[in-house]
Amino acid sequence: MIKKHSIFANWRKKDVDFLANLGITIEEGYFSFLIEEGSVYNEIIKHYTENKGFFVNRTPKEFSSKFAVVEFSMEELDNSKYFVLQNIGKPKGYPFPKNNFDKMTEETYTNYCKKCESNRQQKAPFKIEKEPKLSKNQVNFSFHTIFDEMFFNIDFFQEVLKPLGLKSKEVLIGNTGVPSKNVVQLIIPEAESSLLLDNSVYDINTSCEICDTKKYTQQILGFMPSFKTDFDFLICKTKEFFGETETRQAMRRIIISKEFCDILVKHKIIHYNTNEIYPITNK
Ligand SMILES: [Zn+2]
Repeated sequence: MIKKHSIFANWRKKDVDFLANLGITIEEGYFSFLIEEGSVYNEIIKHYTENKGFFVNRTPKEFSSKFAVVEFSMEELDNSKYFVLQNIGKPKGYPFPKNNFDKMTEETYTNYCKKCESNRQQKAPFKIEKEPKLSKNQVNFSFHTIFDEMFFNIDFFQEVLKPLGLKSKEVLIGNTGVPSKNVVQLIIPEAESSLLLDNSVYDINTSCEICDTKKYTQQILGFMPSFKTDFDFLICKTKEFFGETETRQAMRRIIISKEFCDILVKHKIIHYNTNEIYPITNK
């Protein structure tokens, strides 16, 4: 696992020279670059944050360093039994009614906190403005603003997913009450166990002051912790919600087994790389 940081400043000539000595090419003025954690990164941070003399200001204006991204190696992916699924399909617009997120939420979900959106349970089928037409090789899609549901071409679902024991839910066309003939929602069951998230790198938010739910961060900060207890599944949704404390965004993470991952890769629904999946810690 490689952690990369983004370093930004209004760089001066002397900073360009200092960084060039470390093998980093930047331009004078506002510029940012990505750097892996390690000795060079440590040297830069030390240089710009320590030993500030009274007469010499080493730190350029607006200097900042923030954690940017984690990348996993192929070996780390290969060794993992379960993955967090990041690529849930290309979004096909917004769920209906598309200009009214509150109304859509009210019609589709129950039990959610009005402030932080946690704990929602789906109570009704999703609606889509008009019968969706997928392109020739496209078998699935997602909706903008819905980060924990997947929708599939109905024939693909019948042929590939149903035989695996997976279930589907109809998608309705606008306010007609008529189910789509082309697509269905995949029912992603809730995980039978919670994840060992408390005190992990994902445990950085405070609880909601209304409902007391703690959302875990959506940032990818490292391996996702494992489940407390093992259970068999192809695909499931975490019991926990992810999002940041002060936002209304709340999603469950979708977890897939290696077996299901192979099926998604085989049908070109995802690519096997760390932009689209990331590993769960093995127990
Ligand atoms: Zn809440």
